[in-house]
Amino acid sequence: MKTLTSQSEHYIELINEYKRNGKAVAHFNISNLDQARAIVEVAQELNQPVIIGASEGEREYMGIDMVRTIVNELNQEYDVPIFLNADHTYTLEKVQEVIEAGYDSVIVDGAKLPYEENVALVKQCVDYVRAYEEKTGKRVLVEAELGYIGQSSSLNTALPAGVSEENLTTPDQAKDFILRTGVDMFAPAIGNVHGMLIDATEPALHIDRLKEITAVVDVPLVLHGASGNTDEDLMGSIDNGVAIIHINTEIRKAFRDGEMSYLAEHPNEVAPYKFGHQGQEEMKKVVRAKMELYMK
Ligand SMILES: [Zn+2]
Repeated sequence: MKTLTSQSEHYIELINEYKRNGKAVAHFNISNLDQARAIVEVAQELNQPVIIGASEGEREYMGIDMVRTIVNELNQEYDVPIFLNADHTYTLEKVQEVIEAGYDSVIVDGAKLPYEENVALVKQCVDYVRAYEEKTGKRVLVEAELGYIGQSSSLNTALPAGVSEENLTTPDQAKDFILRTGVDMFAPAIGNVHGMLIDATEPALHIDRLKEITAVVDVPLVLHGASGNTDEDLMGSIDNGVAIIHINTEIRKAFRDGEMSYLAEHPNEVAPYKFGHQGQEEMKKVVRAKMELYMK
C-alpha cells in the first residue's frame, strides 16, 4: 500500500531509478476529471507510476485545490503512485500558491526572460521551496527550463516565434544554471517545441546536443513539448538522460477527436459521460502507446 506522506522523497528516487534504468516516467496534463481518470487507468493497467500536470491555465480552470483533491483521491483508488506537478508556473506568487496547496513538484518557467533574470527568478523560488520544506518537512521538487520552446499546448500552423536553433540550450549554460539555482530537475531546449504542427512534421530533436548536456549535468532531464516527436527521437532522448517526458497536445487532440466523432454519430446526445467516455477511450490509446514506449 502506498503512503502519501513520504511521496515526494519517493518521487525523486523513482525518477533517478528510471534514469539509471534507461526508462522515463510519463507526464500528462489534465483539464478535467475525464482526462485524469483516463491517464490513471492506463498507468494502473501497465503498473507504472505517472505524473499528472496542471499548468496555470489548467489549474485555474479546475481549481488549484480541486486538482490536488482529485489526485489524492486517485491515489487512494489506484495502486500506482500518481504525482502532481504544477506545470509552467511563471511567478513566485503562483509558486507559493501551489506549494501551499500541496503539489509534489513545480516548474518555474523563466525561459522567456533574459538569462540572469531567469536564474534570479528560479533561485528565489528554490529558496522559498527549501524554506517551506524546513518548516513543514514536505519535500517539493523544483524544475526549471532554459532555452525557449514556445508556451501553448496547441495545434499550430508554424513554429512559435522565438524558437530557433540559436536558442537551444548549451551545455555550459545548463551547468551554470543548475549550479546557481539548485533545481532538482532541468528542462533543456533541444529542438523540442510546445504544441504540435498541423500540416508539417515536428522538427527532429538534437540528440547530440542532449548528449553534450547530459555529460556535464547530474540532475534528471525533462523533455517538454514531446507531442508530435517520433518514437525514435523519444527513445533517443531517454537513452541520453531524459527521465520525464511531457505530452499534452497529443492527448488533448485525441480526447477532442473522440468526443467529436461520438457527437457526429449521435448529434442529439447530451450526456457528457457518453461523449466524455469516447474522448477517454481515444486518449487512452495515446497514453498507452507513450507509456509502453517509455518502458522499453
Ligand atoms: Zn512544457
